Amino acid sequence: MLIAVVPPTQRPRSISNGGPGRPAGSASAGGTTAINTKVALRPAGHDYAKWHAATGLLNDRGQTFSEPDLRPYLERVEGRLGVRERSDWQRCVHTVVPGFRALGAELEPVRSYTDHNCMRCGSCLQGCPTNAGKNTLNTFIQPALAEGRLELRADCEARRILVADRGAGPEATGVEYTGPGGEPHLAEADVVVVAAGALGTPGLLIRSGLGELPAGRHIGAHLGFHPARIVMGEFDEVQDAHMVYPITAHCMQFARDSEGGFIVEASTVQDPIGFATALSDSRDVPLWGEPLTEALRRYRYFTGLLALVNDENNGTAGVGADGQDRFTFSFSEQEMERIGRALVFARDVLEASGAKRVLQTPVLSTHLQGSCRMGSDPGRSAVTARAESHDVRRLFVADGSVVPRTLSVNPSLTIMALAERLADYLLTGDHGYFRQQAASLAR
Ligand SMILES: Cc1cc2nc3c(=O)[nH]c(=O)nc-3n(C[C@H](O)[C@H](O)[C@H](O)COP(=O)(O)OP(=O)(O)OC[C@H]3O[C@@H](n4cnc5c(N)ncnc54)[C@H](O)[C@@H]3O)c2cc1C
Repeated sequence: MLIAVVPPTQRPRSISNGGPGRPAGSASAGGTTAINTKVALRPAGHDYAKWHAATGLLNDRGQTFSEPDLRPYLERVEGRLGVRERSDWQRCVHTVVPGFRALGAELEPVRSYTDHNCMRCGSCLQGCPTNAGKNTLNTFIQPALAEGRLELRADCEARRILVADRGAGPEATGVEYTGPGGEPHLAEADVVVVAAGALGTPGLLIRSGLGELPAGRHIGAHLGFHPARIVMGEFDEVQDAHMVYPITAHCMQFARDSEGGFIVEASTVQDPIGFATALSDSRDVPLWGEPLTEALRRYRYFTGLLALVNDENNGTAGVGADGQDRFTFSFSEQEMERIGRALVFARDVLEASGAKRVLQTPVLSTHLQGSCRMGSDPGRSAVTARAESHDVRRLFVADGSVVPRTLSVNPSLTIMALAERLADYLLTGDHGYFRQQAASLAR
């Protein structure tokens, strides 16, 4: 039987060093996939090359980990989620096509995990009202729950991984968690898989004592933000870029660091409240008073480009003196240059498309990765190439924190594929960790 501990609400979090706003995520079964945009992109070849360079990541045969090693799992996840191409571009996308062309770039349809019940209502980030948006809750978790293979402990929070030395070195033996009323519970387990996200996992492991062990210095280090912003142009014609499936097109031409180090996704604006609270001028100064009111009156006339930038994983996720999760970030000069290049490109596209004025959000982050990175070199990673702690056997990580370097694409498909790969490994039983046959867990 699998037991999953599911949190009640997002815990308070703080970020220092002027990082990219408040990092966004969700607290629910299904995690952030329950409220994300559902763009489904595979890692590029250059992403895998960065992984190996960062942590010496090898495949099962001891060779450099590369695209064929993840492909079967990506395909499996894509099949389960019903990934399809979105070529149903609406006016707000067609508006910016000439701008991309004028700059020698092309848009192409994205792939996404949304089925044909998507009515383009623009509610992805509030939770899909028709379940057209697939996520780990309605594709992976619900069937297992309905078939009795999974027990969810809802409104609970994992506080500590139990670790004991039973003669073979430190091993995970279970989880200590609090229930809905804050009361303490213990769950014993043959294997513990932590999936609290790139912000939550490091704190949980550090509070469990793993920070003191040899690979502990990599727990919470190397946090990547995949910094982004929405750059919005105001046009003469109504765009209604909030009443669409938010991202149906993208431009990948500049994805490599040597070519710019950013991708651009089109076209959307945030919901009215998100739009109003993030709208800033070209110096990142938030709009206020009359200029804000005036821009809001023109809400329906804006369309926006989401520019996402490769970063160098310079952030940290740890535990402060007060025992709370704590995050830091400082952009290097190189990262700032890329962020600047992406902004200029997006502005140029909008202006070349006929925008009367261009506004922007500050730098945001929704693609957190890398804070417990996987690798074959224990001197450079927190978990093994199998996503098992280098220091504590039977303890695995299955979330964005294991991604060795920030991807140049939206990360959720990769995170799910890595989790699928881990599930396969656990099911083989080769590790000898299960008291019962792994086959009884088989899907
Ligand atoms: C607005 C938005 C849009 C996005 N759009 C896309 C997109 O279009 N395509 C894409 O690929 N990616 C997208 N992403 C990113 C993607 O959704 C995430 O990268 C991915 O879901 C992260 O998965 P994860 O398992 O690492 O963490 P999460 O999905 O964040 O899951 C971690 C879960 O663990 C819970 N948790 C934390 N601590 C504890 C604890 N102590 N006890 C119990 N539970 C705990 C958290 O509350 C959360 O539910 C988007 C993200 C956001 C915020």
